[in-house]
Amino acid sequence: MEPAPDLTGKVAIVTGGSRGIGRAICIGLAQAGVRVAVASRTEADTSSESDYQRYASGTIHETAETIRAQGGTAVGIRCDLSQAEEIEALVGTTLERFGRIDILVSNAGIDCEAPVPDLDVDLLDRCLAVNVRAPLLLCKYALPAIMAQNSGGSIFAITSGSARTYRSGRVAYSMSKAALERMFLSLAEEVRAENIAVNLFGPGRVDTWMNRRGDWPGTAHIPMVQPEEVIPAAVWLAGQTAQTFTGQVVERAEFGATWGTIES
Ligand code: NAP
Repeated sequence: MEPAPDLTGKVAIVTGGSRGIGRAICIGLAQAGVRVAVASRTEADTSSESDYQRYASGTIHETAETIRAQGGTAVGIRCDLSQAEEIEALVGTTLERFGRIDILVSNAGIDCEAPVPDLDVDLLDRCLAVNVRAPLLLCKYALPAIMAQNSGGSIFAITSGSARTYRSGRVAYSMSKAALERMFLSLAEEVRAENIAVNLFGPGRVDTWMNRRGDWPGTAHIPMVQPEEVIPAAVWLAGQTAQTFTGQVVERAEFGATWGTIES
């Protein structure tokens, strides 16, 4: 496996940085020298001692403070990704604060689990807004700045095996992740000439609130890992450009074996 790229001085926006996989990616990127804009909605801790609440807890400011306590640079920026103007403002605030953007990690996502006849239409709209529309809008608003820097860049989103396989009760979630994959694979071609990498990263089954909320049928046999285990692969992806690695859908469990190697 190649050594982790030195990302010192680069700037990343990571959505869904308040908890779970996003928080781990924020911390991992900062440890690699990246200045991180930690974006999601939660600013105040509402956690309790219960296991359920502990997994649901976490704030953008706690993640940023954890990074600063480790000597890194980060800012928490509140953003409801279902609102286009808040995504545009997130990009503007990041540029004001750090002066550039090199890396976008579209990690935030929500589930939309129900058999189709029982779908909650409001939840479906939120799922599509957060899982599909927001990653595209983040690119729309951030790409002009990334391209103007003329120094490449890396964009990746967190996808799921649900995009490519049937999971009971998760038709809408699967649709959202399949759309995300097609969108980013197309975007990879659109920005290839700008030397910007665009990839999709499947983390596997990770022990987060999303998983704790439900015992998803058909997934119990898949080993569950802690969020920190995504860090090496995510940091490696963040260090890519279109010249080195783009237009790929990759799985954490295969990092260092089928990808993330000198040959890949
Ligand atoms: P999680 O613990 O539920 O975290 C979801 C994150 O998304 C939170 O930080 C949440 O922050 C943010 N978010 C949700 N709605 C938002 C909105 N409207 N605006 C801004 N931020 C919003 O889940 P996770 O497991 O870490 O999931 C992260 C990503 O991995 C998702 O895209 C998920 O689909 C994907 N994934 C997870 C697994 C797994 O096994 N856990 C497997 C495959 C793929 P706020 O509540 O603070 O806004």
